[in-house]
Amino acid sequence: MRTVFEPFRIKSVESIRLTTEDERQASIIEAGHNVFKLRAADVQIDLLTDSGTGAMSSRQWGALIEGDESYAGAQSFFAFEDAVREVFAHRHVIPTHQGRASERLLAGLLIDETKVVLGNTHFDTTRANIEYAGGRGIDLPCPEAADLSSDFAFKGNIDLERLTAELGRLGADRVPFVLMTVTNNSGGGQPVSMANIKAAKRICEDHGVPLLIDAARFAENAWFIRMREQGYHDKSPTEIAQEMFSYSDGAMMSMKKDAFGNIGGLISLNSSEWVEQIRSMLILTEGFPTYGGLAGRDLAALAVGLKEILEPDYLSYRIRSTAYVGEKLDAAGVPILKPFGGHAIYLDARSFCAHLSDDQLPGWSLSVALYVKSGVRACEIGNVMFGRLLEDGSFDWPSKDLVRLAIPRRVYTQSHMDFVIEEIVNLFNHREQIKGMRFRQRPEQLPHFTATFDPID
Ligand SMILES: *Cc1c(COP(=O)(O)O)cnc(C)c1O
Repeated sequence: MRTVFEPFRIKSVESIRLTTEDERQASIIEAGHNVFKLRAADVQIDLLTDSGTGAMSSRQWGALIEGDESYAGAQSFFAFEDAVREVFAHRHVIPTHQGRASERLLAGLLIDETKVVLGNTHFDTTRANIEYAGGRGIDLPCPEAADLSSDFAFKGNIDLERLTAELGRLGADRVPFVLMTVTNNSGGGQPVSMANIKAAKRICEDHGVPLLIDAARFAENAWFIRMREQGYHDKSPTEIAQEMFSYSDGAMMSMKKDAFGNIGGLISLNSSEWVEQIRSMLILTEGFPTYGGLAGRDLAALAVGLKEILEPDYLSYRIRSTAYVGEKLDAAGVPILKPFGGHAIYLDARSFCAHLSDDQLPGWSLSVALYVKSGVRACEIGNVMFGRLLEDGSFDWPSKDLVRLAIPRRVYTQSHMDFVIEEIVNLFNHREQIKGMRFRQRPEQLPHFTATFDPID
């Protein structure tokens, strides 16, 4: 296979401070063995998240200077609106400061104690906003998603049979909308097929329930459809994205992912009735409808980003460069989730650290060891993030204990990733030396952000 090189040149650089293992050992102790509490300057390669961490292009930086900071009716808003409409094609476009603001506005309008939102797999802030409004989020992932190592092409799909059954049981009165998250972030960055979106839309229509899309990684999803689904090989990513959204009644998006934004979000909707009420709330908590919590320059940069993210050369490089990391780790026998998602590679920590029990927090321990050994910061998505403390003091552990290597967009080169691969393979070859961890202090809400830990000797 020919090398797919980064389809960009580097014009401005940011130095990485190199550190020693002794320095990192001191840093992680100070951080309470929690990589979220490290200073970013003490990290060599930061794979904590792909959210808001991408590199803007020179065209985006140019647009930033031209941003129109008028309070109302700014040119930058209309550029933003045009860019969103061209792909999403819903009637109304509302900017917000990030994805969770979109979620809060929609949930505030549509959800109360009687409501249930069905979806393939809700992202954690989505679920939190649904619950905060009094409702409940139910995940209906397809059965193929449960097998971590099979190479089913569309593990992000929703289970259509269960969707039909749940809609039949609950009815339109209790389900304000069905939400399809593309790609399925919490499910390992796995794509959703066009056929699945289309079928879900038909089922929703039969029950009179709107279908919304959580579009954080819609462009990566479009590329997977192009590569893997029959009939789409000759279509452009823009055409595929347009078709995906054509089966929806609206969308919300964190533009910190597939829009090359360091900040930003949106709501795109057909319903004029919903939009009127959301705009009133937007003015109360985010800002005037033509800026929604963002500066004019942010809107201008996002308008350019939305076009760039759909460029075939970029997407081909993006998906290939992520798979490159996965293939090398797989070839070395490192246990990882398959097939490879678009924005991240996931290490299967229970199998990587088979010498640790769930109580010894394998994923968390692996993320700490990886940082200390190599200065690479990754994110546990497992026992600490999702484990539930029971009344008797024991834990209900989640079905998967993963460590996510999220890859920021256009930030690291192949040699950065070669270093990451070498370090993980090296750690895997000495895996029995990875020490387990136990909670020192565990807050009730979102423990992974602020908990502290002690190594088990
Ligand atoms: C990041 C993300 C969100 C939340 O967006 P923020 O911009 O972080 O508030 C919602 N859904 C998905 C799928 C995401 O990845």
